[in-house]
Amino acid sequence: MSTAHPCLSCGACCARFRVAFHWSETDAHPHGVVPSELTQPLDPHRVAMRGTYAGAIRCTALRGEVGADAHCGIYAHRPSPCRELKPAWEDGTASPQCDKARAAYGMAPLSPQLWPVAGPEAAETG
Ligand code: SF4
Ligand code: SF4
Repeated sequence: MSTAHPCLSCGACCARFRVAFHWSETDAHPHGVVPSELTQPLDPHRVAMRGTYAGAIRCTALRGEVGADAHCGIYAHRPSPCRELKPAWEDGTASPQCDKARAAYGMAPLSPQLWPVAGPEAAETG
């Protein structure tokens, strides 16, 4: 089993869904951090990451190749929808969006066995 985080060889969700959020998350707002030049207007209150609005979706901040070596170019400054989309089973819960995105690129869903066991069991079993 690889020790690399599975998202680093995936990136499917960044090339599958529209990423829309309130404009105040962008650096056009004093407390925003998402680079506004990487966004486009969606409606009077929301923006979308460029490349995710419609059509052949691929976020403009995505680096690398989906299914091989993908990663977010603005990871520390990514918007809330990206922070909220969790890899399946990383925290012990299913993630239908993760499963759906991976399936669209021919990748199997992540399994619970992929993640290290936390808690007392981990200490006992080493
Ligand atoms: S689809 Fe799932 S595994 Fe792939 S990058 Fe997104 S969260 Fe990570
Ligand atoms: S901002 Fe980063 S995490 Fe969000 S969709 Fe784009 S590449 Fe993916």
